[in-house]
Amino acid sequence: MQPLTNRSKVVVKKEMSLYERIYLPAVISGMMITFSHFFRKKPTIQYPEQTRAFSGVYRGQHVLKRDDNGAERCTACGLCAVACPAEAITMTAAERKPGEEKLYREEKYAAVYEINMLRCIFCGDCEDACPKEAIFLTDRKVNSEVNRKSFIYGKNVLVEGIEKEKRVDVSLRQTAAVLAFKKHKEFDHNS
Ligand code: SF4
Ligand code: SF4
Repeated sequence: MQPLTNRSKVVVKKEMSLYERIYLPAVISGMMITFSHFFRKKPTIQYPEQTRAFSGVYRGQHVLKRDDNGAERCTACGLCAVACPAEAITMTAAERKPGEEKLYREEKYAAVYEINMLRCIFCGDCEDACPKEAIFLTDRKVNSEVNRKSFIYGKNVLVEGIEKEKRVDVSLRQTAAVLAFKKHKEFDHNS
């Protein structure tokens, strides 16, 4: 049959030499590779008794931030939900009533804000899209659960505590590059 290309190679089945036929050198060489692994640092750890140190910018469980006065920063604009490729975020907006200025920073706020952690792929797009610096991913891990409903995190889990000691530090995520980006006039939506 006429070949369509000239890429095919003729394979020659060459006779094995005596050295190859006794197999022992190949077996010894394989065993030496196996033994050499005994003395290497083990890559596995005894989880959950042992845990690895995570990077400060590891993308784990989200936090909804409060401002310096303790008011919720989220204004329920929905940009995070639109940006989310996994459609994991839902919210219901509500209007702030007189007297609630200390609770919510803007006139509109999220009465309901939910993230489905089973859908989330921890990409960080919600954090990037937020114009109010209200949502950040953190180095906290999402707990394992035994039913699907428990993975839908509402404001009771997501909003950080009002007390200073319960605030979630996200300063490591605000790198010099990120802050420089936010100062750029073209992207000046965070001022
Ligand atoms: S981290 Fe990504 S997938 Fe998860 S909620 Fe945010 S945008 Fe959606
Ligand atoms: S977290 Fe940010 S982007 Fe999402 S609704 Fe609130 S203010 Fe808008």
